[in-house]
Formats: sequence, C-alpha cells, structure tokens
Amino acid sequence: MAKDIDWGNLPFGYMETSKSFVANWKDGAWDEGTLTSNHTITMSECACVLQYAQTCFEGLKAYTTSDGKVVTFRPDLNADRMADSCTRLEMPVFPKEKFIQAVIDVVKANLDYVPPYGSGATLYIRPFMFGSNAVIGVKPATEFQFRILVTPVGPYFKGGVKPIKVRISDRDRAAPHGTGDIKAGLNYAMSLYNIVDAHNCGYAENMYTDPATHTYIEETGGANILFVDKKGTLITPKSGSILPSITRRSLITVAKDILGMKVEERKVNKKELKKFVECGLCGTAAVISPIGQIDDHGKSIMLPSGMENIGPVMQKLRETLTGIQMGTVKGPEGWVVEIN
Ligand SMILES: *Cc1c(COP(=O)(O)O)cnc(C)c1O
Repeated sequence: MAKDIDWGNLPFGYMETSKSFVANWKDGAWDEGTLTSNHTITMSECACVLQYAQTCFEGLKAYTTSDGKVVTFRPDLNADRMADSCTRLEMPVFPKEKFIQAVIDVVKANLDYVPPYGSGATLYIRPFMFGSNAVIGVKPATEFQFRILVTPVGPYFKGGVKPIKVRISDRDRAAPHGTGDIKAGLNYAMSLYNIVDAHNCGYAENMYTDPATHTYIEETGGANILFVDKKGTLITPKSGSILPSITRRSLITVAKDILGMKVEERKVNKKELKKFVECGLCGTAAVISPIGQIDDHGKSIMLPSGMENIGPVMQKLRETLTGIQMGTVKGPEGWVVEIN
C-alpha cells in the first residue's frame, strides 16, 4: 500500500522511512549486512569521518514505471563509481553484487514509499560509507560503515521544466589532480559557501572552470554540463576533475545510438559559450535542467533557447531518457533493473 503522501508536493528533502541497509567493516572484512529500522548512528566523537571527512556517497532513484513495476536505473554504475571513490579515500570497497542486492533489498523493504507512476516523485536512494572508529593522528580509519538510506523526494521541477541562470564561479570545486572525479563528501563541504553566495546573488548554480587555468568549462557543484551547437552536435566537457555522471554517460549513449546525433567529449573553452544554442545540467535528480543564461563577470550570455522553455534538443534527450527510465521507450539491455 502506498503511503498517504502528497507525492506531487513533496520537497527534495529527507523523510525517515521503514528501513535502511547497514553493513560494518571490522578486522578486515564486511559483515553480512542487514536491514535496520534504526535511522540514527552512534559513534566515537573522534570518528575519522568527523575529524577528517573520510566519507563518500552515491545517489540513484527507484520509481514506478508505466506498467506498475518498481525499478531502479543502472545501479551497477553506482557500485563501480563508489568502488572508485572508496579506493581513492582509503576505504574498503563494498562488493558490486552485494551493493546491487542491498539496493534491491532496501527498496523492497520500503515499497510503501515508492511514489506512483506519473506523480513526478521518486524514491531517492543514498548509499554512503564512512570511517567510524576513532583516529587522532591523520590516517585512515580501520572500521567503516556502509549504509543505504532511502527517502521519497518530490518532482524536481514543480509546474514544468524551467531554464535556470548560472554564474561562472571565481572559486574552484576541486583541485587539479584532486578529488573532483570521485563522489566525496568533502567536495560538497567546500562548495557550500559558494552555492549559498550564488543563491544570494540570484543564481541557481555555480559553473566551475578547470582549476589549473580557469579557461575550460567543467561542471557545476552537483551536475555535469551539456551543450548543443548550431549544427545540433552534443558537446560535453572532458576533464580529469569532473565527476563521471551516470546521467551524462547515459545521455551520450541515447544521443548517439537512439537519436543518431553527433557527440563530442572534449575540452570546452569559456570563449565558446556564446556560440552554443542550448545548454543544460545533467544528473540523477533533474535528469536535465536547461540553462537559459550564463553570467561571466558582468557579461551575460543568453542562450538562444531562452528563459521560458527547454530547447528542442535538450527536450528530446530528456524525454527519451525519462521514457527509457519509465518503461515507455526501449533502452539498452540492463539499464532498468526490476525490484519486484
Ligand atoms: C553526483 C554528481 C553528478 C551527477 O551524477 P549522476 O550520476 O548523473 O547523478 C555530477 N556532478 C557531481 C559533482 C556529482 O557529485
């Protein structure tokens, strides 16, 4: 039975649900892992995560398809990406098959909280790991907890997809050869000041440039960037400090193999911005958020697609990928994983 929740008006916020998944690493091994209804964590005040931010996370969604199935989208890629994040943060990898099974189990245990088809809401799934034992000298923890919490979230765009206004940031989100390409909590901690400032200045997001030379466009605080040029080519920035978005990688496949578009993954110079006809952000939460205006230190670049509507190419990409996710468009084998 679906919970009595006003799905269409849910915020993008946390709500406690029935169960979370939890597994612990101790003495060099993971325990079996279990579902728990305890949504509070108790640990040492000196835990490595609290002192030295040894933590990473993932984000994916479960939702109801047009034919009433509960599914999730490409959880294998979240498992792989989290393995990369863990390796780089000196944390043990949670095995891929077990990760996927835990995602399935935790969604199954919270089926009441999976929003119905057509509501625009989804069940957000947040796997995360942290160093839990006390350390005071700077070194990795030796005990870790892997958890998956789920929480229903409302439609990202209430009342239709609306273009946003962003600014080119003066600050960096990631150091050259740093941690920009992994989903580490620390990347977000240091972006908070800048996003609050952006919001105070009337911008939805900060668009970051490459941290070494501030010449090439990279991504925003939590989404990759897509451009469309006059010829209709899809262009996406390539750099070692961009987080490899699963949405972006999926959209590239959709563009090439389903829509027959030309796709370029390459460096994108700031000077090229005025030549693009469409621009959008991509990530799990919104799939694609169109950008209508990019401000670069007093100069405004107005995308020809405008501030009223999403451009035609972004619309087509968005509609095709959400169609695959919702079961109305046939996508590549294995992308949609059934829960029940
Ligand atoms: C999570 C994230 C994204 C989006 O990745 P998806 O897998 O598409 O959700 C993009 N950029 C950053 C910095 C992120 O942390």
